[in-house]
Amino acid sequence: MGCSTKTTCPYCGVGCGVVATPMPNGRVDIKGDEDHPSNFGKLCSKGAALGETLDLEGRLLSPEINGKAASWDDALDLVAQKFKQTIADYGPDSVAFYVSGQMLTEDYYVANKLMKGFFGSANIDTNSRLCMASSVAGHRRAFGSDTVPGIYEDLELADVIVLVGSNLAWCHPVIYQRIVAAKAIRPNMKVVLVDPRRTMTADIADIHLAVAPDSDVALFNGLLSYISQQGAIDADYVARHTNGLPEALEAAQSLSFEKLVERTGLPAAELSAFYALWTGNEKVVTVYSQGVNQSLSGTDKVNAIINCHLATGRIGRPGMGPFSITGQPNAMGGREVGGLANMLASHMALEEPAHRELVQRFWNAPVIADKPGLKAVEMFDAVADGRIKAIWIMATNPVVSMPDAGAIENALKACPFVVVSDIMGKTDTVRHAHVKLPSLGWGEKDGTVTNSERRISHQKKFLPSPGNAKADWWQMAEVAKRMGFGKAFDYDSTAAIFREYTALTAFENNGKRDLDIGAYAEISDQDYSALKPFQWPAPMRKMQTTQDQRFFANGGFFTVDGKANFVAASEPSESAVKAHYPFTLNTGRIRDHWHTMTRTAKSPRLSAHIAEPFVEIHPSDALKKNIRDADLVCIKNGRSEIIVRALITDRVKQGHIFVPMHFTDQIAANARVDKLVAPATDPISGQPALKNTHVDIAKYPAK
Ligand code: SF4
Repeated sequence: MGCSTKTTCPYCGVGCGVVATPMPNGRVDIKGDEDHPSNFGKLCSKGAALGETLDLEGRLLSPEINGKAASWDDALDLVAQKFKQTIADYGPDSVAFYVSGQMLTEDYYVANKLMKGFFGSANIDTNSRLCMASSVAGHRRAFGSDTVPGIYEDLELADVIVLVGSNLAWCHPVIYQRIVAAKAIRPNMKVVLVDPRRTMTADIADIHLAVAPDSDVALFNGLLSYISQQGAIDADYVARHTNGLPEALEAAQSLSFEKLVERTGLPAAELSAFYALWTGNEKVVTVYSQGVNQSLSGTDKVNAIINCHLATGRIGRPGMGPFSITGQPNAMGGREVGGLANMLASHMALEEPAHRELVQRFWNAPVIADKPGLKAVEMFDAVADGRIKAIWIMATNPVVSMPDAGAIENALKACPFVVVSDIMGKTDTVRHAHVKLPSLGWGEKDGTVTNSERRISHQKKFLPSPGNAKADWWQMAEVAKRMGFGKAFDYDSTAAIFREYTALTAFENNGKRDLDIGAYAEISDQDYSALKPFQWPAPMRKMQTTQDQRFFANGGFFTVDGKANFVAASEPSESAVKAHYPFTLNTGRIRDHWHTMTRTAKSPRLSAHIAEPFVEIHPSDALKKNIRDADLVCIKNGRSEIIVRALITDRVKQGHIFVPMHFTDQIAANARVDKLVAPATDPISGQPALKNTHVDIAKYPAK
């Protein structure tokens, strides 16, 4: 048995600690890290099967130019020359980076620095836009910064946990296990699930509110109104630490209780019981993820939830608070280094001249982007219509995962210059690259990630680099050097990048806020290598208590006046296409696969859980459409059509269907569900409404 390495799982935002041990037979033994404070040794099925996904089959192991093997020098020279020429001919906004929550924070930092400080454009966006952008926008509106107030321990201390649009049992299984364990010890703890679908998470729910899709704003506005009626507003907290309650309350009270019942589709008694439970228990945590974020009104949903916690002062104290759970392993790290088109770095604001000046000076950069760049959907629109002429895609597969996925494919086909950095050689996206750059995968690369509770953990190298694969940060630094920016990208390790990034965080919010993470700016290579998981705010120099790890119990928000903002949250308008297509299509994850299955499909154990794409259909709808269990079903709308297997179940409501998002056309012909999804987005966050597409279904083949 080889040496064991403590590292972090590369899948979801729970961020579990993993102990990886290479074995003499070439396999890698995987165990949960009992010392890791996010999972205490637990792993879910995906994490436990990591060792089965590390073979080199299908890997991209050498750079390629137009499908032919090339040297790194030739590939990097070409990328640098094309980006330089495109910027010279058409300006900085003619190029773009589309990056990923799979990337390490150090990779993300370099990408953001190169695009915003040296190319002079903010056209860098991320696939995290598809999973948590509405939470980022909601946090910034309420708190003045993208800050998650709570920690996982709050879920064990709460008396009531409300899970909104969040199938924790399958999507964040170790957090789910922590709740199950806590509920076993404290049977009086109540769990409420708010989800139109009866997911596996309903198994631990004391109350399942099967709300109408996209009625969350109404549900939580109704709660705010109820809190006010019951005299349960914490007037002292509101007066000292917040602004805007009257306006939020006026918006909340615009819907009568009868209308609320109608809008949410919930029986009046259920609604009242939920409101009484929430209001009557001080220790309430409201958890939310994609069912909230992936909506035309995602940001307003987030703020409607936060409003209720601000009104009752239930934030930042043990066992209470709003809690956004991120989908990806490093969505949070990307947010910290500004890897989004509308953010700068270290939580500084692109729209603030003083922040721009500070960051430009810190980077010693020739320019600085001075306006927001294109968000994911807008970015690929710009590729399609020719405004973007060169795009570099890293560690993500937008041809499968973006809404209107067929249009993304066509856009890349038409784009004059496409670079893709990936570990796999034949994903649906990689095949459209003019230049393919082989990246390091999990176990081969080294750097940090941040999980949903702001815990920074090390992803460590314990395997040799295969073939000619190189780290993403190295690829970008080499291109930067070839474009004449060498001095600013002269890194010799991820430790050097981490030191620079943490030094910049000392200036967060233009120096008004000291998270003390800046202390890591002096960390040695050895200490970086031995870095143990820690949360920000993270005093390096003193012991951290769990109360230090929470935010906002005593106010101190990151707004100009230090007060939080209530937001008057409103409902989305009815979709115009709904009338033409009778079914609402909900997309989401299954337990044992990750994203577009480039890694998890390698594990027979994981694929055995659910072997092929399926559509959940309510029994009455199946009867009406003459569809029986396991029949093939055609799902279509004006955008596209797919063929998948019927699974008849009352887990979905009548008029609703569910299809998993993972399956690519390479795995099952014509099963790419995101081809059906409209590229409509929340107007504030730019997050696509992946939960709410309108389609029709029919037995296939039609007789
Ligand atoms: Fe990995 Fe998430 Fe599973 Fe933990 S819960 S083992 S982070 S996939």
